[in-house]
Amino acid sequence: MIINLNEIPDEGLSYSFSRETGELNESLQELLEDSNYKVDFYLRPLGQGFELKGKGTAELPEMCSRCGIDIRLGLNAEFNEILMPKLKLERNSKYSKPNHISDNDHLENKNVNVTEFIKDEFDVGDFVREAFTLLVPICPVAEVDDKGNCNVCGVDINNTKFGYEEDMGENIKKSPFDILKNFKPQ
Ligand SMILES: [Zn+2]
Repeated sequence: MIINLNEIPDEGLSYSFSRETGELNESLQELLEDSNYKVDFYLRPLGQGFELKGKGTAELPEMCSRCGIDIRLGLNAEFNEILMPKLKLERNSKYSKPNHISDNDHLENKNVNVTEFIKDEFDVGDFVREAFTLLVPICPVAEVDDKGNCNVCGVDINNTKFGYEEDMGENIKKSPFDILKNFKPQ
């Protein structure tokens, strides 16, 4: 999905993408598989470039590193980006990397990132995929409720040995579902 930045009017334009609208499905396929996502942002001209503000949410298919059950991790991305024309075209680079703005830049908000674009083309799929990828945890775990029980499998995480722990306890070869057999609802 390429947005032609030439076509953005002075007052800006809003964009909204989701699994249903489909424009980003292909770009996000590897990361999100068939999960739902929603991306909303506003794009307006700012100086030589463009300002992009908005948010994205997605359900990332993952495996809980504690209990091994497939989970959907909620990803919440905030977009606060300046798009700037790339000044020098490098022969071998089709895509540019976003650069974090350093202290000596004029922008007061240090959470603003810069993405460069070439020939007035902004690749939304690349941008959104990168934003979501940065949020993927190294060690994804299912959420835990107030009592310390896993929201997915119901195990009390503080009193259960998990297979990845150094002490290779008896739970290592057990299926996570074996734990459920002993789980008595109260
Ligand atoms: Zn669990």
